[in-house]
Amino acid sequence: MNGPEIQISFAPGLAVFVASERRSGSTAVTTDGVSSLGHVVESLGVPLTEAGRLLVDGRPVAVAHVPSAGEHVSVEGVTRPQPVPGAPLRFLLDVHLGTLARRLRLLGVDAAYENEDIGDPALAALSARERRVMLSRDRGLLRRRELWAGAYVYSDRPDDQLRDVLERFAPPLAPWTRCTACNGLLTDTGKEEVRERLERGTEKTYDVFARCPECERVYWRGAHHARLEAIVDEAVREFGATTP
Ligand SMILES: [Zn+2]
Repeated sequence: MNGPEIQISFAPGLAVFVASERRSGSTAVTTDGVSSLGHVVESLGVPLTEAGRLLVDGRPVAVAHVPSAGEHVSVEGVTRPQPVPGAPLRFLLDVHLGTLARRLRLLGVDAAYENEDIGDPALAALSARERRVMLSRDRGLLRRRELWAGAYVYSDRPDDQLRDVLERFAPPLAPWTRCTACNGLLTDTGKEEVRERLERGTEKTYDVFARCPECERVYWRGAHHARLEAIVDEAVREFGATTP
């Protein structure tokens, strides 16, 4: 290719996406003279969901900007917390992020999750239709234009994934208000209404019950696994809760 040559550099947080020789400082790229800067950035491996401001010689430009010879481009990371247009903030997680989905629900965050692989086009369409931020570690999925919004999940460890999403989007937390199995909103219920669904010991020991109107699961205070309590306590300590 004999198109214009530009210099490009990436924020340190984007190093994971680009070839090793581009991870620090500026490197030269020969473009085709017609493609947008957004396309150039993507072709170098960075999903546009992860790019913040694009600066050309220090000035912010739109992704549609067509680079010309000699320009110095710097690609910033997204700002944290990252504003998402069109509240309420809600998420859609791909088939590999089941643990993260259950933890977000535990904290009351609206997290739809498909536990079978419905394919990238269907996920992207669902994200668009329900205005959900697509969370994935699949860069190909995050490049789909139909997405309402998307975010790469940087770690493969659920603890780090949860912190990443909470820090990035700062969703309001309302622990113990959502069904971890199906994402339904829990409603309070009396012991009488759910008596026949309880084990004998449970009925004696616990008083506060909630049920999921979507899948009929019953929840009660005090019966949570210590591990779940720890996850909630840690998240609330670090990010705060909106309801007691
Ligand atoms: Zn449910």
